[in-house]
Amino acid sequence: MTKVAIESKLQSVGTSIFSVMSALAQSKGAINLSQGFPDFAMDPKLVTLVTEAMQRGQNQYAPAPGLLALRQQIASLVQETYQADFDPDHEVTVTSGGTEALFCAIASSIRDGDEVIVFEPCYDSYVPVIELFGGVPIYVALEFPEYKINWDRVKKCVNSRTRMIILNTPHNPTGTTMSASDFHELAKIVQGNRILILSDEVYEHIIFDGQEHQSILRHPQLAPRSFVVSSFGKTFHATGWKVGYCVAPAHLTKEFRKVHQFVTFSTSTPFQQAIADYMADRSHITGLRHFYQTKRDYFLKLMAQSRFEPLHTSGTYFQLMRYNAISDKSDRAFAEWLTVEKGVAAIPVSVFSHGNEDNKVLRFCFAKENATLEKAAEILIRL
Ligand code: PMP
Ligand code: GLN
Repeated sequence: MTKVAIESKLQSVGTSIFSVMSALAQSKGAINLSQGFPDFAMDPKLVTLVTEAMQRGQNQYAPAPGLLALRQQIASLVQETYQADFDPDHEVTVTSGGTEALFCAIASSIRDGDEVIVFEPCYDSYVPVIELFGGVPIYVALEFPEYKINWDRVKKCVNSRTRMIILNTPHNPTGTTMSASDFHELAKIVQGNRILILSDEVYEHIIFDGQEHQSILRHPQLAPRSFVVSSFGKTFHATGWKVGYCVAPAHLTKEFRKVHQFVTFSTSTPFQQAIADYMADRSHITGLRHFYQTKRDYFLKLMAQSRFEPLHTSGTYFQLMRYNAISDKSDRAFAEWLTVEKGVAAIPVSVFSHGNEDNKVLRFCFAKENATLEKAAEILIRL
């Protein structure tokens, strides 16, 4: 039979490291601190709410932009948290996870030859989408080991082809957060030009040590040119529900929704209803930072006697650890060895930069039961 081939549009893309490491962990029976998802149950109230929505018959298509009740909740949350007014009818869109929102924002904005500035290490779902739409990623390295943005470097990359800058705060994989002064620098750079901002803020409620999350939505100069993406997967320990959203001014949302209606049309109705009902009690959101800070601190305490050196995590549920006192293997080889031979899986950080910059750092997910963290630490401290 003739094989009808297609020329790959994503030549350099393989299987995501999250799938690779989770599959390896599963096949070896290793403790999985690699892919970012909780190993504990979500609040049973959410399960009850989604079941009730299904039983009431909310099982047909939701409106394409999302259930109005959920968009209204999102707009009120944004108002209360960031003192920013966004219209649920024209400026909030519910998507099938943050991933879909990122895709739609890039797809609706980027054309052949447009340059998009991304910071490395860089979450893996931006660059392939930029490239699918003919865009050119321009890489700016976050400076190891603090992973801060060097704004002079950014300034040097900006030219008439620059169409978008993609931010991620709190940042995956490094666990760093952007400050108000970062936004001040960014505002100076984009002032008077056509640069859009895509701000991936899926970990907005997981932020530590009394900091306030610096959302783009707080910033009156930046918000009018920005798509801001969040995800209920992180906030409600429900990564498998795949419900996220995008907040953007009406003129950007209009184009975003044109793409969204042909990607998924709409997101699962009963899940949207359950989230709308559940988030009406804001303590489900405001308590999250304390919950995860306690986990971070517990994991760090368990690891204190190990030869791993923790880097500072100020947000997300990821902890970076340097291992150069233990091994001189590449981070990828070390992560595989750790999974296969020792039974603990983590993510090598070099996969998040196009040149595979290897600082001998692994990312551990601490969104786990204390017992899981204890079992993992027991192995790790012996290395
Ligand atoms: N952005 C970042 C930085 C993430 O870590 C993730 C998922 N872990 C996403 C986006 C995607 O979110 P979702 O699972 O809701 O698609
Ligand atoms: N964002 C999650 C992580 O960083 C994984 C999401 C995925 O598997 N696509 O681990």
